[in-house]
Amino acid sequence: MSDYLVIGAGISGAAAAAELAEIGTVTLVEMEERPGYHSSGRSAALYTPNYGPSVVRTIIAASAEFYRAPMAGFADHPLLTPRQAMTFVPAGSEAKIDEYMAMATPATPLQEISPDQACKLAPLLKREAVARASLDPHVMDMDAGAIHQGFLRLLKHRGGKTFTDHRITAIERRDGQWRATTTSGATFEAPVVINAGGAWADEVGQMAGLKPIGLVPMRRTAIVIAGDPTLAPASMPAVDDGATEAYVKLDAGRLMASLGDATPSPPCDAQPEDLDMAMIVDWLERNTHLTVKRIEHSWAGLRSFVEDHCPVVGFDSDAEGFFWLAGQGGYGIMLAAALGRLTRGLVERDAVPADLLARGLNIEELTPSRCRA
Ligand SMILES: Cc1cc2nc3c(=O)[nH]c(=O)nc-3n(C[C@H](O)[C@H](O)[C@H](O)COP(=O)(O)OP(=O)(O)OC[C@H]3O[C@@H](n4cnc5c(N)ncnc54)[C@H](O)[C@@H]3O)c2cc1C
Repeated sequence: MSDYLVIGAGISGAAAAAELAEIGTVTLVEMEERPGYHSSGRSAALYTPNYGPSVVRTIIAASAEFYRAPMAGFADHPLLTPRQAMTFVPAGSEAKIDEYMAMATPATPLQEISPDQACKLAPLLKREAVARASLDPHVMDMDAGAIHQGFLRLLKHRGGKTFTDHRITAIERRDGQWRATTTSGATFEAPVVINAGGAWADEVGQMAGLKPIGLVPMRRTAIVIAGDPTLAPASMPAVDDGATEAYVKLDAGRLMASLGDATPSPPCDAQPEDLDMAMIVDWLERNTHLTVKRIEHSWAGLRSFVEDHCPVVGFDSDAEGFFWLAGQGGYGIMLAAALGRLTRGLVERDAVPADLLARGLNIEELTPSRCRA
């Protein structure tokens, strides 16, 4: 038995478990052989502060403080490194640039750049593909793997226990305790359960007899192709097509590209589909000087959203001790540090941490009950 049972060892569960391990005993349970097998190991690893609804941006900014200066021993190298992102639009979509510029937060403004400047920053772009462009200097590369491992190490250091290869299939409340049973017959008990099941969060809730929050996992596909230092120098910003949401970015000397697709999917081990990969290649060859001879690697991952695209964080009003930490969508790596602290604050004192309050975080925008209204 422990004080807190965290279900799901993706980045969200790992960060929350590490925080909770400072105030009680924690058990973190993961169905796969290793943490990070699903969404947390399949991200684009970009820190993009001008992305998502306002409450998401607030939480991203709070997380960044931790990622910029984590505690000693969390990681042995910087977690955020400057990258920048450039958004271009073709003729006919020029107004999109005004929309992007208007959506930037005052603390992280965008600047318009000329099409020639855009092609200088990203020589892979065909000049005729660019009618207008903007530059976001605040975008960073994130070391998602190091952040995830840092939280798992912190959890261990604080006495928490992680069990992998344990799929929870049943959850029941008895005598003030939640009791979770796994496929192997093992049981874990705690008065408080944190549901950090990623794409499976609604399934986990239903195991406990709770109404769904309406989570929809969305599949996104990515490919990796050979780099080309002439067309994509090491200093190249991430390049977004503002008209279609497709993007291409450097990835350890190679290039990662995605259509920015969002195809509804059941929770599963998402796999790339041939048609999606062919469409990424087509986008690359129409908009850039790249010729794709071989896809070196490809993957698909799930980004799980509720209707308003804001995360779901808080106790379920219908079940004592059942806490939701779900719906991190396309921002879960950026959100993890601050959502871990928020989880601890709500669990420990029913309070939002002071720095998040000072940033204007309105907890009502995250409550599970809003998803069932
Ligand atoms: C292509 C792509 C690009 C992305 N790019 C970015 C980006 O640039 N920046 C960013 O911040 N975010 C990005 N994201 C989003 C980010 O990856 C996710 O929001 C984040 O990983 C979600 O983390 P999680 O821990 O909630 O979910 P997961 O990592 O999916 O973890 C949930 C875990 O719960 C486990 N689990 C589920 N059910 C059970 C059960 N019954 N018993 C035990 N364990 C269970 C699963 O095995 C899984 O490991 C991207 C996502 C994708 C797919």
